[in-house]
Amino acid sequence: MSDLALTEAERTRILAKSALFDPPTAAMPDGRRDLVGLSREELAAELAAVGEPAFRAKQVWHWIYHQGVTDFARMSSIARPLQQKLAERFVVGRPDAVTVQTSADETRKFLFRFRDGQEAETVYIPDPVEDRGAVCISSQVGCTLSCRFCHTGTQTLVRNLGSAEIVGQFMAARDTYGEWPSPKGETPRLLSTIVLMGMGEPLYNYANVAKAMKIVMDNEGIALSRRRITLSTSGVVPMMDRAGQELGVNLAVSLHAVRDELRDELVPLNRKYPIKEVMAACRRYPTASNARRITFEYVMLKGVNDSEAEARELVRLIAGLPAKVNLIPFNPWPGSAYTPSSMSTVMKFAKIVNDAGFAAPVRQPRGRDILAACGQLRTESRRERARAAE
Ligand code: SF4
Repeated sequence: MSDLALTEAERTRILAKSALFDPPTAAMPDGRRDLVGLSREELAAELAAVGEPAFRAKQVWHWIYHQGVTDFARMSSIARPLQQKLAERFVVGRPDAVTVQTSADETRKFLFRFRDGQEAETVYIPDPVEDRGAVCISSQVGCTLSCRFCHTGTQTLVRNLGSAEIVGQFMAARDTYGEWPSPKGETPRLLSTIVLMGMGEPLYNYANVAKAMKIVMDNEGIALSRRRITLSTSGVVPMMDRAGQELGVNLAVSLHAVRDELRDELVPLNRKYPIKEVMAACRRYPTASNARRITFEYVMLKGVNDSEAEARELVRLIAGLPAKVNLIPFNPWPGSAYTPSSMSTVMKFAKIVNDAGFAAPVRQPRGRDILAACGQLRTESRRERARAAE
């Protein structure tokens, strides 16, 4: 088989395996169907099935995704009898916010519960300078990848989140900030960016993540630009190409080590897709440019991956790429095996990367007091259908 055919076969295998972990159907216990998370075509088909013309889908889409309305009775451009008919058959759902914690630095962590009782966390991280921020969204309940420095990785994969649950995290977070158009038509926009960096590996739930991001980017709804969405992967090489071609969002790669031997340990997926292949996929990534650099995430672990030699090797690996490196001070969690590098070590590392012409900001830990910082998310969700996906 050629390389291309092999990649295609691997992609098919990943998608088929991922589908085994898909969520239960969108139907409510009373048989009503959730309209959130459907593509435009699916929404039109649902409405056509109850005798509604195509333009109705456009109206309902606008109410759901532009106005943020969850009650059919508030869809004022739709006649009252039809509002009632829709309410009998459909819902516009949101995940339940079980807890909402706000950190001393204003970072806000949501624990969302979905219809089957499974839970995932979402974090809003305000920009310390500008009046806006990023929503860090989960793509799975638990994770298969067991990265050694990551608290989520200690929680076995339970299931994928569906497109409704992925979009729903963003919409429910916007609800709490009142971020839908006011009667005067003003739309506050604090939640201006999505980072798919919460629980789970988004590229192991590609179908649902892609559908959700297409909904979020739709111009007649939430209308978030692809430039404001960053998908973070541990390096699922065959799916990186596909995400680049189909979604064109920004790419972040959890690198964390520059030698295969160490990355095999820190990010076990490296045994399947080693550094060389991950870097080749980055070089092929279609939207990478100086304006839209690939971010390499690098958690700084004392005495493990933080030497000056490793900084120089990192520079060699990313040479020629439009890239930046996010240096992440390690956020300890109960039972973690590592300790954070000292700030002077982090600064020396950053200087070497900087001097080579790459931005290397040191990420300020946010929401540590509520365990909302990078790599700290974890829920006590039940393990129902956990099987090793790898
Ligand atoms: S870093 Fe990401 S991919 Fe790795 S275990 Fe944590 S959630 Fe999973």
